[in-house]
Amino acid sequence: RTDDVPSASLEDSAEGGEGDVFSLLIDDLKIRQALAEGALEPFFQPIVELGSGRLAGFETLVRWRHPERGLVMPADFIPTAERSGLIRAIDLHVFERAARAVLAAQGAGNGEDTPFLSINLSGSHFASLDVIDQLAAIIEDTGFPPQRLKVEITEGVLVAHPERALAVIEAIHGLGAQVSLDDFGTGYSSLSYLHRFPIDVLKIDRSFVVGMAEHPRTAAITKAMLQLAGALGLQVVAEGIETDGVVPRLRDLGCHYGQGWLFGRPMPADAMQRLVASRRAVG
Ligand code: C2E
Ligand code: MG
Ligand code: MG
Ligand code: MG
Repeated sequence: RTDDVPSASLEDSAEGGEGDVFSLLIDDLKIRQALAEGALEPFFQPIVELGSGRLAGFETLVRWRHPERGLVMPADFIPTAERSGLIRAIDLHVFERAARAVLAAQGAGNGEDTPFLSINLSGSHFASLDVIDQLAAIIEDTGFPPQRLKVEITEGVLVAHPERALAVIEAIHGLGAQVSLDDFGTGYSSLSYLHRFPIDVLKIDRSFVVGMAEHPRTAAITKAMLQLAGALGLQVVAEGIETDGVVPRLRDLGCHYGQGWLFGRPMPADAMQRLVASRRAVG
């Protein structure tokens, strides 16, 4: 038995099966090792243009390819990585690998038709001023066109660090990239944030997308969010579209983009590259 093996009592007391025991045992050192070994890799989930059905870009979502556990999901290690600050290195690593993978799929294109990448940045990372130099260095090293980069943040960072967040958003614009507000509708959702911060993209949380099919009140809120976004000239991505029923309604309400299992699950780089290549072949 090594320290890695859970004790019987721990196994017995865990409610949710193996995954929960594993997450109890994840520590910073193991995440650090996984990062160094390249075991933390970007997966890619398609984001499609609802009007045309065209593939527009991908959100990068980190996965831990674990030798015994298979694919470990972010919920099992991101909270630990956030506490230690290692999340910053993870976010940058994911962006760099994702940028290289998309460009490799793209071949020698000029960047105009490069699928966009929407990357997740942890709030603490976003609020640190060196994040701009770090993103700029990766853009420079990889040659990824910054016009095709969207940086996803959640409302929390706007609430906790409004002044720095504003400076970082403006600096991201200075790089030529855009900023997306993730999980919109779930947090504070103060409309004043849209007024105070020059956000480019709203990502409407899955709970609204799922709920609008069944609940008129949820549908009314989703509609209001889309109207507001339209009036402010924001792009909108509807998250978590699992069935085709809501697509025509979202489209009619002016929602530009959709993401969810209906269009594709998060996939590894090679599958993403095949998808991009087949899109190019179709033209
Ligand atoms: P998120 O950024 O809101 O990402 C969307 C989540 O919804 C992803 O979960 C995705 O797999 C899932 N999803 C997409 N379409 C559907 C659908 O149709 N139905 C359902 N039920 N789920 C769908 P995932 O990959 O487990 O990621 C969870 C969260 O972990 C992300 O939420 C994000 O906050 C965080 N995360 C993931 N990768 C990274 C990363 O590289 N850096 C940072 N800082 N956070 C990350
Ligand atoms: Mg996201
Ligand atoms: Mg999201
Ligand atoms: Mg979400």
